[in-house]
Amino acid sequence: CGIIGILGRGDVADQLVDALKRLEYRGYDSTGIATLQDGRIARRRAEGKLRNLEVKLASDPLPGRTGIGHTRWATHGRPTEANAHPHATDRLALVHNGIIENYRELRFALEDEGVRFSSETDTEVVAQAVSHEMASGLDPQAAVLAVLPRLRGAFALAFLFEGEEDLMIGARRGSPLAVGYGDGEMFLGSDALALAPFSDDITYLEEGDVVVATRAGASFFDESGTPVARRRQRIPVGV
Ligand code: GLU
Repeated sequence: CGIIGILGRGDVADQLVDALKRLEYRGYDSTGIATLQDGRIARRRAEGKLRNLEVKLASDPLPGRTGIGHTRWATHGRPTEANAHPHATDRLALVHNGIIENYRELRFALEDEGVRFSSETDTEVVAQAVSHEMASGLDPQAAVLAVLPRLRGAFALAFLFEGEEDLMIGARRGSPLAVGYGDGEMFLGSDALALAPFSDDITYLEEGDVVVATRAGASFFDESGTPVARRRQRIPVGV
């Protein structure tokens, strides 16, 4: 239900949790964050209130300067820890707002090719599909662009990739997503409220947009992969 992503300068777990607090107003049933640790994806997830995640993080901290976080409002799959986002494979981690309507047929097709799922969610099919494209040789951006046209439904997505400390990819169709600009940092968030503590400037993705973000900047593409120009604007005062 709420998304945050950070390419940070130092450890980002605290910032991720702070941003998730600002997204609590949307409602949620579980939470989670993922970071890269020595290039590998590591996660902490919890059912229920954000407090439960904070307790886990207090006893089992999650270092890493590249991270994504999520508050989930379950649509497909019970509100359990296994179904909480981020969803991950051995190549990537993903958070998602919205619904993938054709997830069953996509899941069956991937299972036929030997892919094993570890949750009941519609979201995991996106993680597994992009991971599968990468296994066949595509780079992260090409793999995301290959999968998006196959998805029906509404989504805002934020991806991290193993071994890619300076890359975050986002996409939007039907659910809002914005980029926030920092000083040698870059952010993705569901709304300006989540980004306000970190950024003065944001760019809202338009329908069908994909963003490829590094700490140095953000590039925008339409769903066919054609570069598009998007306006950078000041966050309105009072957010
Ligand atoms: N459909 C996804 C799920 O149930 C995402 C729900 C959300 O927007 O939080 O896991």
